[in-house]
Amino acid sequence: MLYYSTNRQSPIIGFEEAILQGLASDEGLFFPTSVPKLPVSFFESIEELTPQEIALEVIKQFAGNEITENKLQQIVSETLDFPIPLVKVEDNIFSLELFHGPTLAFKDVGARFMARTLRFFLEKKSKPVTILVATSGDTGGAVASGFYDVEGIRVVILYPSGKISAMQEKQLTTWGKNIYALEIDGTFDDCQKLVKSAFTDSELKAQYGLTSANSINIARLLPQTFYYFLAYQQLRDKSRPFIVSVPSGNLGNLTAGLIAWRMGLPVEKFVVASNSNDVVPKYLKSGQFYPKASVHTVANAMDVGNPSNFARVLEVFGHDYEQLKGKLAGHSYNDDEIKSCITEVFQRTGYTLDPHGACAYLALQKELKESEVGVFLETAHPAKFSETVNESIGQSIRIPDSLNKIIKKDKVSIQCQHSLDALREVLSTILK
Ligand SMILES: *Cc1c(COP(=O)(O)O)cnc(C)c1O
Repeated sequence: MLYYSTNRQSPIIGFEEAILQGLASDEGLFFPTSVPKLPVSFFESIEELTPQEIALEVIKQFAGNEITENKLQQIVSETLDFPIPLVKVEDNIFSLELFHGPTLAFKDVGARFMARTLRFFLEKKSKPVTILVATSGDTGGAVASGFYDVEGIRVVILYPSGKISAMQEKQLTTWGKNIYALEIDGTFDDCQKLVKSAFTDSELKAQYGLTSANSINIARLLPQTFYYFLAYQQLRDKSRPFIVSVPSGNLGNLTAGLIAWRMGLPVEKFVVASNSNDVVPKYLKSGQFYPKASVHTVANAMDVGNPSNFARVLEVFGHDYEQLKGKLAGHSYNDDEIKSCITEVFQRTGYTLDPHGACAYLALQKELKESEVGVFLETAHPAKFSETVNESIGQSIRIPDSLNKIIKKDKVSIQCQHSLDALREVLSTILK
C-alpha cells in the first residue's frame, strides 16, 4: 500500500516510510492511496473469526508486503492481548469497551501496535529514534506504556501543566528509563503546535530522528479500525442498521471508523460526539470549519479546538460536503449535561459511563431510531476520571489495581516553556 500527503506537496511513499516520517514534509497527513474493500465472505463469516484473525485480515491490506504475514500476526496478537467487549446497556444501545488495556483507555490499541511495528522496522537501522508526542491526557500514558524500555526508541511526552487529571499525570511521569515527561506552561494546543514546529525543523528532526506517535501517525490510526469490526462481530442482530457514536477530539477514532466503513463494514451512520469544543458539530451544521482555542472540560481528552485528523475525514469523502453530511451527525455537550448523563444512566441502568463515553451516549440517544442498533465507544475506564464520576453517581467507584500502583509512585517531570527554543534546549540536555 502507498500513502500520499493530504497537502499533496510531498512524494507518495510506502508504509514503513509513512510511519517513520509521521507527518509529511509538506505538513499534510498520510492517507492510503486506496481503501481496499474486504470480501463479502469476510463479513459473512466474521463470527467464526478470533479478534486477532479479524485484525490481521484488516491490517494486511495496509502493511502490504512490507511486513511478513507471520510478523504481522505476532504484532496484532500482542496488540490485542486484552478483551474489547460489546456490553449491552439497554435494549438497543451497546457500549464498546475499549478500556481493558494496560492504561485503561482506547489509545493502548494504537500505541501497542505502533511500538511493535516501529521496533520491527528499526531492527534494520542503527540510529536511535525519538518519539515526540503531545498529549491532552491519555495519549502520553498509552505511548509511554507501549514504548517503555524498547531499545533504540526514546519517548518525549509534552503535556499541558495543570490541565490533565492527577491520575493521567502519574501515568506520564512515573516511568523513567527511555520515557521523558515535559510539563509545558500552556494548553494542549500549544503542546501540539510545538510538536508540529519541531517536526518541520529539519535540523531538529534529523538530529534526534524525530517521529510522531500522535493519532496523526498512520501506525496509530490504522489499528483503531480493528475494533469497529469487533463491534460488528459481537452484534447479535446484524439485520438491523447499526450506527456508531464516537467521542471525538482529534478525530482519530472517527477517521478509523470511516476507513472501516469504506472497507465494507455496514455502518449506517457515524455520530461525532463533542464536549464544549464543538468545531465539528458546528461544521456539520454550517459547512464552515472554524478552528478555535480549546476550552477545558471534564472530558478533557477531547479538549481540542483544531482537530488534526479533520483533513483525513475530508479525504474519506473526497472533499464532498454533501456526501459527508449524509454519513455524519454531530452534537456537543457541556460539563453539566455530561455529569447529569452519568448520573441518569447509572441510576436507570447501573452502567457507569466515563465523561467521554457520556458525550457519546448522549449523541447516540439523540440520533438513534427505533429500527436501529446503536453502539457508542467507551474510550476510557470511568476510574480514570473518578472525581467527576464519583460526584455524579454519588458513590466511590472502585479503582483498578493497575491504577493504584501508579498513584503511589513519584512524579518526575521537566518544566518547559512553550517555545521551540525552550524545547530545543531541553532536548539537548536530556537526549545526549
Ligand atoms: C483521545 C481520547 C478521545 C478522543 O479521541 P480522538 O481520536 O482524538 O478523537 C476520547 N476519549 C478518550 C478517553 C481519549 O483518551
